[in-house]
Amino acid sequence: MTIVFEAPLAWFGVAALVRQAAVVCDGGRVTYAGPSASRPPADEVVDLDGFLMPGVADRHVHIRLSDPAAVLLGGVTAVRDLGWVPEEIFPLAGASELPTFSGPLIRAAGPMLTAPGGYPARERWAPAGLRRELAGPEDAANAVGELAEMGAAAIKVALNSDAGPTPSDAEVAAVVEAAHRRELPVTAHVQGRGQAERAVGAGIDEFAHTPWSERLSDELLSVAAGTSRIVSTLDILSFGQVTPELRTACDNLVRFRAAGGTVVYGTDLGNGSIPPGIHMREALLLHEIVRMSREEVLVAMTAGPIAAGGPADLVLLGSDPLIRLEALQDVRAVVRSGRLVSG
Ligand SMILES: [Zn+2]
Repeated sequence: MTIVFEAPLAWFGVAALVRQAAVVCDGGRVTYAGPSASRPPADEVVDLDGFLMPGVADRHVHIRLSDPAAVLLGGVTAVRDLGWVPEEIFPLAGASELPTFSGPLIRAAGPMLTAPGGYPARERWAPAGLRRELAGPEDAANAVGELAEMGAAAIKVALNSDAGPTPSDAEVAAVVEAAHRRELPVTAHVQGRGQAERAVGAGIDEFAHTPWSERLSDELLSVAAGTSRIVSTLDILSFGQVTPELRTACDNLVRFRAAGGTVVYGTDLGNGSIPPGIHMREALLLHEIVRMSREEVLVAMTAGPIAAGGPADLVLLGSDPLIRLEALQDVRAVVRSGRLVSG
């Protein structure tokens, strides 16, 4: 059963703006993306009026603190959960692969790896199972193995010296080694003086937030740019205000990008008043303060281009966000795994 979505204008990916576009889908995958005029035949034709683009991917959420159905209807077709109780989040991630699931595709890290009594032990929002305390390098490697077994898509480590003890350098190194052996990326919550340097030194792959607790040196940012990417989560530092934390984070992020670093969009959904779905303020901060072009923002917000072989996850907007980014607020329809879920 093939279905084709046609739209007057589509952004398939970098420098691929297509008029009278068609996306043919079969079994949750795209089989053709290109001009309507040269598309193959399909069993069903769906005419969409608006601007078609890939579904948005939010790389930092806590989905159990939000509403998966509202997240999907808001234009986000894939999320990565960076911290929850494994007994709850891994089954939910599994369920999200089924056609009956009402929400985005969920990938999950499970609990954060931390020191005994370390972050997020003192956080009121965090249930006990949200952290896994490490008792030495060997235990750290075992923890990674257990999480990989359960289906973790990434390993999250907490390096937050503002909120308690942190894992030792040997433990973090063991986490990175064990994760990389399983081809799993390591993402770090980095907070407190000197923690970014420790994270980069240990070879982590990703900052789960833009570092905000200190101005990082150009030297450190240039090393980081070559080895790790940053998940933005800027708006949680200010929720629409301007704060010293937001200023420091944006300054770090601008210089990280100038050094060639990759920034991906993430909101930390579940933390404070972040709305489900596309978060306009996060996108606008990347464009207006971090000075990413509108197209660079779209790249940061999506997992890849609309292309044959890729997932059939699409969003239809009322107008063109390459002209006015606020169009991202006007979600008219969402396609997940080749199924129209709204519109
Ligand atoms: Zn978070």
